[in-house]
Amino acid sequence: WRVSTRPLETLADGGRQALLVMRDETDSRRNERMRADFLANASHELRTPLASLTGFIETLRGHAKDDAVARERFLGVMAAQASRMARLIDDLLSLSRIELNEHIAPEGKVDVALAVLDVLDALSPLAAERGVKLKTSLPERGVATITGDRDQILQVAQNLIDNAAKYTPGGDAVQIEVLVGQTADQAIAPLRASAARLSILNPDLVGGERFVVLRCTDRGPGIAREHLPRLSERFYRVEGQKSGERLGTGLGLAIVKHIVNRHRGGLVVESEEGHGTTFTAYFPWLQQNRHETVA
Ligand code: ADP
Repeated sequence: WRVSTRPLETLADGGRQALLVMRDETDSRRNERMRADFLANASHELRTPLASLTGFIETLRGHAKDDAVARERFLGVMAAQASRMARLIDDLLSLSRIELNEHIAPEGKVDVALAVLDVLDALSPLAAERGVKLKTSLPERGVATITGDRDQILQVAQNLIDNAAKYTPGGDAVQIEVLVGQTADQAIAPLRASAARLSILNPDLVGGERFVVLRCTDRGPGIAREHLPRLSERFYRVEGQKSGERLGTGLGLAIVKHIVNRHRGGLVVESEEGHGTTFTAYFPWLQQNRHETVA
C-alpha cells in the first residue's frame, strides 16, 4: 500500500481537514517486477549464444588457427549460435509487437486452412530431413475463414506445427487438422481419457458461437501434468526434452497465447507422457463468408 495525506481547507471552528489516500500498488509493483524479470531473462538468453560465439572466436584465433577440420566444425557451431540469436530477437520483437496491439481487434479475413498450407510449405523440408511426416486434414479453400490478422494466424500455425515436428521422433507423423463450425464444447472435448488437459486461454467461451479449430497432434514425448500451467510463460522450457537438434526460444507458446487472445479464441493443451501432445487453438468462425475465397 502507498499512503499519502493531503491537507484540505480549514473549517469554520478552526479545525483542519485532511484527506488520507491509500492506494493498493500490488498490480503496478507486480508489473514492474515482471518487466524487470523479463529483461533479465531476455538478456541472459541472448548472452548465452553470444558467450559461445566469443569463445569460438578466441579459439579460432588461437590454437585452431591452422587446423582446417576444427575450423569448419567451429564455424558450423557458430552459425547455429548466430541463428539462435536471430530467432530469439525475432521472437522478442513479435512478442512486443503483439502486446502493443493485443487490445485492437484484427480486421482482415484469413483462411486458417490456407495459412496451414503456407506454413507446411516452409516446414516440410525441415521435417522431411528428420523423417517426420506432416499429415493434414483440411476443409475446402475459403471455408475455414475467420476475422483475423494473417501474419499472426500464420505465426500460431507455425509455432504449433513446428513444436509438434520438433518433439516428434524421426519416422513418426504429426497430424494437423482444421475443423469448421465446431461449438466451443466440441472444440475442447477430451481426446484421450487418460491424458492431462489444460485450457490455457479462455476456457469459458460459449454462447452458441461456432469456431474454426486448428488442432496439431504429435506422438512425441508428451508433457508432464505439472508443466502444463507454465508452458505459455515466456522462456519456460521443459528440462531434458529432446527437440531434434534445435533448442527453442521458450517464447513460441507465449506468442501463440497473445495472438489467440487478440482473436477472441481459445487454446487447449492435452498431453500424456510417453504418448504425445495435442494443441487445439480455436477462433470465432466467419460463417457468412464461407464460400468466398480469401487470401
Ligand atoms: P520452444 O521454443 O522452447 O519450443 P515454446 O513456448 O513453443 O518454446 O514451448 C515451451 C515448451 O513447451 C518447450 O520448450 C517444450 O518443453 C514444451 N512443448 C511445447 N510443445 C511441445 C510438444 N508438442 N511436445 C512436447 N513438449 C512441448
